[in-house]
Amino acid sequence: MFEQNPELLKLAERAEEKASGVFRRLEARAFQNQMKILEAFRARRVSTESFAATTGYGYDDAGREKLDQIFADVFEAEAAFVRHNIVSGTHGITIALFGLLRPGDTMLAVTGTPYDTLQSVIGITGEKGSGSLADFGVRYEEVALTPDSRPDIEKILQKLSPDVKMVYMQKSPGYSTRKPLNNGDVKAVHDAIRTAGSHAFLVVDNCYAEFCEEHEPCYYGADLCVGSLIKNPGGGMAECGAYLAGTKEAISLCAQRFTCPGIGLECGATLGNNKNMYKGIFYAPHTVLQALKTAVFAAALFEEMGYAVIPHADEERSDIVQQISLGKPELVEAFCRGLQSASPVDSHVCPIPWDMPGYQDPVIMAAGAFTQGASIELSADAPMRPPYTVYMQGGLTYESAKLGILSAADEVMKTIASEKK
Ligand SMILES: *Cc1c(COP(=O)(O)O)cnc(C)c1O
Repeated sequence: MFEQNPELLKLAERAEEKASGVFRRLEARAFQNQMKILEAFRARRVSTESFAATTGYGYDDAGREKLDQIFADVFEAEAAFVRHNIVSGTHGITIALFGLLRPGDTMLAVTGTPYDTLQSVIGITGEKGSGSLADFGVRYEEVALTPDSRPDIEKILQKLSPDVKMVYMQKSPGYSTRKPLNNGDVKAVHDAIRTAGSHAFLVVDNCYAEFCEEHEPCYYGADLCVGSLIKNPGGGMAECGAYLAGTKEAISLCAQRFTCPGIGLECGATLGNNKNMYKGIFYAPHTVLQALKTAVFAAALFEEMGYAVIPHADEERSDIVQQISLGKPELVEAFCRGLQSASPVDSHVCPIPWDMPGYQDPVIMAAGAFTQGASIELSADAPMRPPYTVYMQGGLTYESAKLGILSAADEVMKTIASEKK
C-alpha cells in the first residue's frame, strides 16, 4: 500500500496539519451534541429493561416508547418515532410524503429535484400505476436553488399557492455538485413561508446531516425531519431503520401511515433491535465526528494533490459528505479501488461501475462495511459522468478511515504515473 509512497506521506502530513484546527472546532461541536444526548438518556431514565425484546404485536414495549421520546428530545421536536423495520431513508421519507399529503394537494420541493430514489415515489420517474404520489392525484412542483446553492426565497414565494401542503427541503446534495444546505436555510424558508401565511408542512430530508450542526431542523421551525439509521443517527451501531421527528400533528399522521389508521405507534415488535438503536444514538455524535474528521482530511489531502473539492477543508460543514472532482473515469475507479482495498470487510473485492436501479448513469460504489450499505462507515460512490466527482462519506474511526483515504490517494497517484509511461 501507500507506505512505499513518500510523496503521498509528505502531502498527508501537510494535510493533517492544515486540518488540525478544524478538528478542534468539530470536537467542540461533538461534545455539545453528546451532552444533549446524554441529557435525554438521563431525563427518560434508560435502564436495562429498555433493551428487552418484544415479539408479535409488540404492545406495551416501554423500550420502544422511551427511544421514541429520546429521538424527540435529541431532534428538538414534540414527537418522534424510530423503527428498525423502516427499511431505508427512502422508505422513511415515503412514509412522510404519503402520511402528510392528500389527493389534490401540491408538494413543493424548494431545493431542486429530490434524491434519485424519491423520484419514483413522487412520480417524476417510474411507471404510471405503480402507486406513486402522482397516481393518487398529488401534484408536484419544484424550485431550483440559486447559483450559490441557497433556497431561492423569491421564487418559492411565487409558487406558494394555497394548494401547497408541503414544502420540501433536502440538505445533503445527493449526486449533484452543490454544497449542502444548513439549518440557517431551513430557518430562512420557514420564516418566509410563514410570513406569507402558508400552513404547509415544512419537511426536511435530514440524511447525512444529523449532529453536524448545533441544532436540528425542528429547532428552526421544520414540522418534520427524516433520516436513515445506517447513516449518522445509527452511530455505526444500528443494523437498519429510520426515524421521523417533528410536531405532534405531523408525527401522528405519519404514524397512521407507517402502520395503520387507528393503530399508529401502539404496535410493532422490536425483536432484539432496541439495544443497538440506543447505543447507536448514544454513539452518534462521536461517530459523526470521526466521519467529519475523515472528510476534512480527505479534502485537505486532495486539495494538496491539486483536485477541486466541495467543501474545502476549512469550510463550515452541515453534512458528512465530501466531494472530490477527479475529472476522469479512470481516476474515479482508482479512488474507489484504493478505498475498497483498505476496508475491513470485502477488501479483496474490486468495485466496477454498474447500472443500478433508480439511477440515470452507471454508478460505482466502494464500501467494505460491517453493515450492508451503511454509509456512516467509510464509503465512496460516483455516477460515471463528468465532472467525475466522487462522493465519499463515513468512517467509524478516524484512524481506519485515514488509512482508506491514503490508499485511495495512492491508487490515484499510481494510475496517473502509469498513464504517463
Ligand atoms: C441516503 C439519502 C437518502 C435515503 O437513501 P436510502 O438509501 O434510501 O437510505 C435520501 N436523501 C439523501 C439526501 C440521502 O443522502
